[in-house]
Amino acid sequence: MVQTLLKPSPCRRVAVIGAGAGGLVAARELRREGHHVIVYERENQVGGTWLYMPETEADLLGRDPARPVVHSSLYRSLRTNLPREVMGFREYPFVVRADWSIDPRRFPSHTEVLAYLKGFAIEEMVRFDTEVVKVELLKGGGGEEHGGCWRVKSRKTRTTKKDGIDWSGGCEESDEVFDAVVVCNGHNTEPRIAECPGIQRWPGKQIHSHNYRTPEPFKDLVVVLIGYGTSSVDISLEIAPISKEVHLAIRGPSKIAMHDRGHGFSNIWFHPMIKHAQEDGAIVFEDGTSIYADVILHCTGYKYHFPFLDMDGVVRVDDNRVGPLYKHVFPPLLAPCLSFIGLLSKGLPFRVSELQSKWVAGVLSGRISLPSVEEMMEDVDNFYAQLEAAGVPKHHTHVILTSLVEYNDWLADQCGFPGMEEWEKIMLFAAYESLQNRPGTFRDEWKDDDLASKGCEDFVRSIS
Ligand code: FAD
Repeated sequence: MVQTLLKPSPCRRVAVIGAGAGGLVAARELRREGHHVIVYERENQVGGTWLYMPETEADLLGRDPARPVVHSSLYRSLRTNLPREVMGFREYPFVVRADWSIDPRRFPSHTEVLAYLKGFAIEEMVRFDTEVVKVELLKGGGGEEHGGCWRVKSRKTRTTKKDGIDWSGGCEESDEVFDAVVVCNGHNTEPRIAECPGIQRWPGKQIHSHNYRTPEPFKDLVVVLIGYGTSSVDISLEIAPISKEVHLAIRGPSKIAMHDRGHGFSNIWFHPMIKHAQEDGAIVFEDGTSIYADVILHCTGYKYHFPFLDMDGVVRVDDNRVGPLYKHVFPPLLAPCLSFIGLLSKGLPFRVSELQSKWVAGVLSGRISLPSVEEMMEDVDNFYAQLEAAGVPKHHTHVILTSLVEYNDWLADQCGFPGMEEWEKIMLFAAYESLQNRPGTFRDEWKDDDLASKGCEDFVRSIS
């Protein structure tokens, strides 16, 4: 095992992988700190997840690792599940702005988020149509004498020609050396599939929510959705008016029909998880009840995936835990030269990425110190032990909803940045509660106008 030794310097050559929300804010903070940054982005625009793509993958469950990947998992009707006041970056609030806003709602459509990110991006730092295919540590690690520790290999995904775009790209490769690499490739693209006995031979159609775009293909069908996250709730409510029946297979004791929550759909039912699927088309649930269905829609989340990282076991993905990582960002043995932004699942992705980026940028220049490798390892071990003691499954390592405020404030403190305002905390938790209790209406009915006004006052003060 090798530890990278990097002398503090205010000017590092840093590669950022991905120009989604995480990569864009990382680039901005690294440049602000004085580092020289190149952002690699395999698409031809910034935005990552928020760059809606109507096309889907041919492999609807995403099982084939060699399949051509469609990055975004957005559906056409998607609106944010957070109010804009708490969703945006602290230093570039997601307020309605005359120069780019197209949807002024508090929970706007994905088009507004993309417009916001385009307004935020410093595009000159981004190398578009360029996919990172390999990141490797140069021998010896502490490569001051090599002019950098990391080799980043990339290839052109397509080449722009004078008369438009040539989609036949993919052969132009390049090799560059950097002092540090910041990984921001997102984690909502590689489907996680529910494996139930018999499902391989079940004759119906299976699709992961990554490949759901519009309700029309589900017209008159009996659909089983597995999982009960935001996508599953949104999609079930969207297809219910045209599908024959909608069945949600979920963990936990929630056998409450959705119409009991005031949505008025008599064709939505809740079930426990699937026990097994049969060759005759039946789906049998854990309580012994069964139905015949046409489609199973897996709304079962995503896997962390870093196909370009060759880390010789120093960082691994094990049952969807990326580790070991100090505070979900730095692998102790490779800190600060390798870092991950935006790994947390749920919570406040933009805000947390902003703080993580400030932290990484400050640590790389030596302005902020990290504990010793041993101390970071001990912290990680303690964190894993706490999760285990609390019965949290390994694949939930990066879901820290209950300690989100504490984590956010810890990062802010490291960076000398203000922690979360009181109004933000109240708004955030009210948003989660209404998402749970009023899934069909929370985006259009709320009672916290006073907090929204408070937020706007704060934004005006902080940016004037
Ligand atoms: P991404 O946005 O995924 O960006 C990663 C970028 O890396 C992409 O541009 C990709 O092309 C690029 N990339 C990947 N691999 C490579 C490579 N090898 N080389 C070069 N480039 C590469 N968050 C909210 O705050 N509010 C919401 O309402 C909300 N709703 C969501 C709804 C859905 C359906 C999903 C899937 C997510 C939602 N999120 C929401 C979470 C959302 O993912 C985050 O807000 C945020 O956009 C994540 O940004 P990111 O930069 O970490 O990743």
